[in-house]
Amino acid sequence: MQYIVLDMEWNQPWPGTYAAKRPLPVHIRGEIIQIGAVRVTDRQIVGDEFQVLIKPKFYRKLNKKVSSLTGIKDAQLAQFGIPFPEAMERFRDWCGDDCVFLTWGFDDIGILKENMALHGLDSTWPERWYNAQMMFNAQTDGATAQKALKTAMQMAGVEASRPAHDALGDAYHTAILCTRLDLPRGMAEYDQAMKKHEDGFHGAELPGCLSRKVYHGFATKEAAMEALGGEENRCPKCGEPMTCGKWVSQQGKRYTAVAACPAHGDFLLRIRLAPDEDGTLKAARLIYEGDSDAAKAFETAKPKVRKRRRRKKTTAE
Ligand SMILES: [Zn+2]
Repeated sequence: MQYIVLDMEWNQPWPGTYAAKRPLPVHIRGEIIQIGAVRVTDRQIVGDEFQVLIKPKFYRKLNKKVSSLTGIKDAQLAQFGIPFPEAMERFRDWCGDDCVFLTWGFDDIGILKENMALHGLDSTWPERWYNAQMMFNAQTDGATAQKALKTAMQMAGVEASRPAHDALGDAYHTAILCTRLDLPRGMAEYDQAMKKHEDGFHGAELPGCLSRKVYHGFATKEAAMEALGGEENRCPKCGEPMTCGKWVSQQGKRYTAVAACPAHGDFLLRIRLAPDEDGTLKAARLIYEGDSDAAKAFETAKPKVRKRRRRKKTTAE
């Protein structure tokens, strides 16, 4: 078995343009314009490299932000870029069978699969992939937050020898970091590392927390709030459906509401939304005891509204 360290650059349409408004048969977060990959052998030695430029078909004009970040120009893609299906064929041939993919971050494989689906290619490949960030965190500082490649390189004392924000350059640096990790252990402990990452997504847990769970696959914020205040809103003590008060918006895409079980009384629901790797929304939900400090703090924040209403009435009378 070998490891393929993959990095890609993708283009996004400029907001408001025709390309941005035009609906595509498959939603893509970006159209891939460059694939860079470095092979790491099963003995964790950096091997050969792969690189290809892709001529965009859907978002044909390079977003100037993408262009300035990656240094890729329209003319370069027009001259050296090849169609995506051809690039994928070359890439799959180069990868060979029996490989595991490693990326820095959660986005690349999802975006690769979206692009493959858009071009009508079999997007069940790649099958096995891991976010090397999670392994790096688990085997270094135990952090749960995502880490920039540059930060990890500094931590590991890896000098940059290739350009950053170039697919092959980033893949190469990621490959160097990967050779310093215990990859078999990283894969074996991956689920646990992911759990920790999800726990990190929950944020700091206050006393009185009864339940924590991450939900995936919401199309919109409204859908997430409806599900978490509706069908998924069950009493942490008896599992019966609860009623849900109004969601109160808080900073950082967090929402809080009071839920009530007929038998067990009030609970505080706190949810936090974030984009997921497949372009949908994920939601972390914590349920707190009704008499926890978190619930009390939420309650004391409320009377301001009531007071104002009361005062209004008095002046009207
Ligand atoms: Zn109950």
